[in-house]
Amino acid sequence: MNLFEAVKAAVTPRMAAERYGLPVRQGNMVCCPFHNDRTPSMKLNEEYFYCFGCGAHGDVVALTAQLFDLPPAEAAKKLAADFGIVEQKPSVLTKLKRSKSQAELESRSFRVLGDYLQILQDWKAHCAPQSPEDAINPRYAEACHMLERIENMLDILTCGTPKERAEVVTDLQKDNRLALMEARNRQIREESHGTK
Ligand SMILES: [Zn+2]
Repeated sequence: MNLFEAVKAAVTPRMAAERYGLPVRQGNMVCCPFHNDRTPSMKLNEEYFYCFGCGAHGDVVALTAQLFDLPPAEAAKKLAADFGIVEQKPSVLTKLKRSKSQAELESRSFRVLGDYLQILQDWKAHCAPQSPEDAINPRYAEACHMLERIENMLDILTCGTPKERAEVVTDLQKDNRLALMEARNRQIREESHGTK
Protein backbone atom coordinates (compact mmCIF):
# COMPACT_ATOMS: atom_id res chain seq x y z
CA MET A 1 0.00 0.00 0.00
CA ASN A 2 1.59 3.28 -1.05
CA LEU A 3 1.04 6.62 0.64
CA PHE A 4 -1.84 7.60 -1.68
CA GLU A 5 -3.67 4.37 -0.96
CA ALA A 6 -2.94 4.54 2.75
CA VAL A 7 -4.26 8.12 2.94
CA LYS A 8 -7.35 7.35 0.88
CA ALA A 9 -8.09 4.26 2.95
CA ALA A 10 -7.83 6.20 6.21
CA VAL A 11 -9.26 9.65 5.46
CA THR A 12 -12.66 10.40 3.93
CA PRO A 13 -13.33 13.70 2.16
CA ARG A 14 -15.57 14.61 5.09
CA MET A 15 -12.76 14.12 7.59
CA ALA A 16 -10.47 16.32 5.50
CA ALA A 17 -13.17 18.98 5.07
CA GLU A 18 -13.74 19.17 8.82
CA ARG A 19 -10.08 19.22 9.58
CA TYR A 20 -9.44 21.98 7.07
CA GLY A 21 -12.24 24.20 8.31
CA LEU A 22 -15.14 23.59 5.94
CA PRO A 23 -18.33 23.41 8.02
CA VAL A 24 -20.12 20.21 7.07
CA ARG A 25 -23.93 20.54 7.01
CA GLN A 26 -26.70 18.01 7.01
CA GLY A 27 -26.37 15.25 4.44
CA ASN A 28 -22.59 15.64 4.22
CA MET A 29 -22.97 18.88 2.24
CA VAL A 30 -20.48 21.77 2.41
CA CYS A 31 -20.26 25.17 0.77
CA CYS A 32 -17.96 24.59 -2.19
CA PRO A 33 -14.59 26.25 -1.65
CA PHE A 34 -13.94 26.29 -5.38
CA HIS A 35 -16.72 28.60 -6.51
CA ASN A 36 -18.72 31.37 -4.90
CA ASP A 37 -21.18 29.07 -3.18
CA ARG A 38 -23.89 30.49 -0.92
CA THR A 39 -25.80 27.28 -0.23
CA PRO A 40 -23.91 24.04 0.32
CA SER A 41 -23.58 22.49 -3.13
CA MET A 42 -20.73 20.10 -2.51
CA LYS A 43 -21.54 16.56 -1.48
CA LEU A 44 -18.93 14.64 0.47
CA ASN A 45 -19.23 10.96 -0.27
CA GLU A 46 -17.26 8.17 1.35
CA GLU A 47 -14.63 8.13 -1.35
CA TYR A 48 -15.04 11.33 -3.36
CA PHE A 49 -16.50 14.80 -3.36
CA TYR A 50 -18.71 16.34 -6.00
CA CYS A 51 -19.94 19.91 -6.38
CA PHE A 52 -23.37 20.29 -7.99
CA GLY A 53 -22.60 23.96 -8.59
CA CYS A 54 -19.28 23.96 -10.44
CA GLY A 55 -18.70 20.27 -11.05
CA ALA A 56 -15.51 20.11 -8.97
CA HIS A 57 -14.86 16.53 -7.98
CA GLY A 58 -12.18 14.11 -6.92
CA ASP A 59 -10.90 12.04 -4.03
CA VAL A 60 -9.61 13.23 -0.68
CA VAL A 61 -6.14 13.85 -2.12
CA ALA A 62 -7.58 15.99 -4.91
CA LEU A 63 -9.69 17.93 -2.41
CA THR A 64 -6.63 18.70 -0.30
CA ALA A 65 -4.50 19.48 -3.34
CA GLN A 66 -7.05 22.02 -4.59
CA LEU A 67 -7.68 23.55 -1.16
CA PHE A 68 -4.00 24.21 -0.55
CA ASP A 69 -2.91 24.52 -4.16
CA LEU A 70 -0.52 21.58 -3.85
CA PRO A 71 0.59 18.90 -6.30
CA PRO A 72 -1.10 15.56 -5.48
CA ALA A 73 2.02 13.99 -3.94
CA GLU A 74 2.39 16.93 -1.56
CA ALA A 75 -1.30 16.81 -0.71
CA ALA A 76 -1.00 13.13 0.16
CA LYS A 77 1.98 13.92 2.41
CA LYS A 78 0.06 16.73 4.09
CA LEU A 79 -2.88 14.43 4.77
CA ALA A 80 -0.55 11.77 6.12
CA ALA A 81 1.11 14.28 8.43
CA ASP A 82 -2.18 15.85 9.60
CA PHE A 83 -3.88 12.53 10.22
CA GLY A 84 -0.85 10.63 11.51
CA ILE A 85 -0.77 8.05 8.75
CA VAL A 86 2.39 6.03 8.28
CA GLU A 87 3.17 4.48 4.95
CA GLN A 88 2.98 0.71 5.28
CA LYS A 89 6.44 -0.72 4.82
CA PRO A 90 6.71 -4.50 4.40
CA SER A 91 6.84 -5.71 7.96
CA VAL A 92 9.21 -8.26 9.41
CA LEU A 93 6.27 -10.63 9.46
CA THR A 94 5.67 -10.18 5.71
CA LYS A 95 9.34 -10.82 5.06
CA LEU A 96 9.20 -13.95 7.20
CA LYS A 97 6.13 -15.15 5.34
CA ARG A 98 7.87 -14.52 2.05
CA SER A 99 10.94 -16.51 3.07
CA LYS A 100 8.69 -19.28 4.34
CA SER A 101 6.89 -19.55 1.02
CA GLN A 102 10.26 -19.45 -0.73
CA ALA A 103 11.37 -22.39 1.40
CA GLU A 104 8.17 -24.23 0.54
CA LEU A 105 8.71 -23.62 -3.17
CA GLU A 106 12.25 -24.89 -2.88
CA SER A 107 11.26 -28.07 -1.12
CA ARG A 108 8.46 -28.69 -3.60
CA SER A 109 10.88 -28.11 -6.51
CA PHE A 110 13.31 -30.51 -4.89
CA ARG A 111 10.66 -33.17 -4.50
CA VAL A 112 9.34 -32.88 -8.07
CA LEU A 113 12.81 -32.77 -9.62
CA GLY A 114 13.90 -35.73 -7.51
CA ASP A 115 10.89 -37.70 -8.65
CA TYR A 116 11.61 -36.87 -12.27
CA LEU A 117 15.28 -37.83 -11.79
CA GLN A 118 14.24 -41.29 -10.56
CA ILE A 119 12.02 -41.74 -13.58
CA LEU A 120 14.85 -40.70 -15.91
CA GLN A 121 17.33 -43.04 -14.21
CA ASP A 122 14.81 -45.83 -14.54
CA TRP A 123 14.30 -45.10 -18.24
CA LYS A 124 18.02 -44.89 -18.89
CA ALA A 125 18.50 -48.29 -17.29
CA HIS A 126 15.49 -50.05 -18.81
CA CYS A 127 14.80 -48.39 -22.13
CA ALA A 128 18.31 -48.46 -23.57
CA PRO A 129 18.57 -49.99 -27.04
CA GLN A 130 19.55 -53.68 -26.83
CA SER A 131 21.35 -53.74 -30.13
CA PRO A 132 22.63 -51.12 -32.62
CA GLU A 133 19.70 -51.84 -34.94
CA ASP A 134 17.05 -50.98 -32.33
CA ALA A 135 15.19 -47.75 -32.78
CA ILE A 136 15.93 -45.28 -30.01
CA ASN A 137 13.19 -45.35 -27.40
CA PRO A 138 11.99 -41.78 -26.83
CA ARG A 139 12.15 -42.38 -23.07
CA TYR A 140 15.81 -43.32 -23.36
CA ALA A 141 16.42 -40.24 -25.49
CA GLU A 142 14.71 -38.03 -22.94
CA ALA A 143 16.75 -39.58 -20.15
CA CYS A 144 20.02 -38.94 -21.99
CA HIS A 145 18.95 -35.42 -22.79
CA MET A 146 17.61 -34.39 -19.39
CA LEU A 147 19.48 -36.35 -16.71
CA GLU A 148 22.42 -34.02 -16.40
CA ARG A 149 20.26 -30.89 -16.31
CA ILE A 150 17.99 -32.23 -13.62
CA GLU A 151 20.94 -33.44 -11.55
CA ASN A 152 22.44 -30.01 -11.89
CA MET A 153 19.28 -28.29 -10.66
CA LEU A 154 19.04 -30.67 -7.72
CA ASP A 155 22.68 -29.95 -6.88
CA ILE A 156 21.93 -26.24 -6.81
CA LEU A 157 18.86 -26.72 -4.63
CA THR A 158 20.98 -28.78 -2.24
CA CYS A 159 24.24 -26.82 -2.16
CA GLY A 160 23.59 -23.53 -3.95
CA THR A 161 23.51 -20.04 -2.47
CA PRO A 162 20.05 -18.60 -1.69
CA LYS A 163 20.31 -16.53 -4.88
CA GLU A 164 21.14 -19.57 -7.05
CA ARG A 165 18.34 -21.57 -5.45
CA ALA A 166 15.90 -18.73 -6.04
CA GLU A 167 16.90 -18.67 -9.71
CA VAL A 168 16.13 -22.38 -10.10
CA VAL A 169 12.79 -21.95 -8.34
CA THR A 170 11.89 -18.90 -10.45
CA ASP A 171 12.83 -20.76 -13.60
CA LEU A 172 10.57 -23.66 -12.61
CA GLN A 173 7.67 -21.29 -11.99
CA LYS A 174 7.83 -19.98 -15.55
CA ASP A 175 5.04 -21.27 -17.77
CA ASN A 176 3.91 -23.36 -14.81
CA ARG A 177 6.74 -25.81 -15.52
CA LEU A 178 6.93 -27.28 -12.04
CA ALA A 179 3.22 -28.06 -11.86
CA LEU A 180 3.30 -29.60 -15.34
CA MET A 181 6.33 -31.69 -14.41
CA GLU A 182 4.60 -32.82 -11.23
CA ALA A 183 1.46 -33.83 -13.12
CA ARG A 184 3.49 -35.69 -15.74
CA ASN A 185 5.51 -37.52 -13.07
CA ARG A 186 2.28 -38.67 -11.51
CA GLN A 187 0.89 -39.78 -14.86
CA ILE A 188 4.05 -41.74 -15.67
CA ARG A 189 3.93 -43.43 -12.28
CA GLU A 190 0.30 -44.38 -12.76
CA GLU A 191 0.93 -45.75 -16.24
CA SER A 192 3.87 -47.87 -15.06
CA HIS A 193 1.77 -49.20 -12.19
CA GLY A 194 -0.97 -50.05 -14.67
CA THR A 195 1.34 -52.08 -16.91
CA LYS A 196 3.01 -53.99 -14.10
ZN1 LIG B 1 -18.30 24.28 -6.62
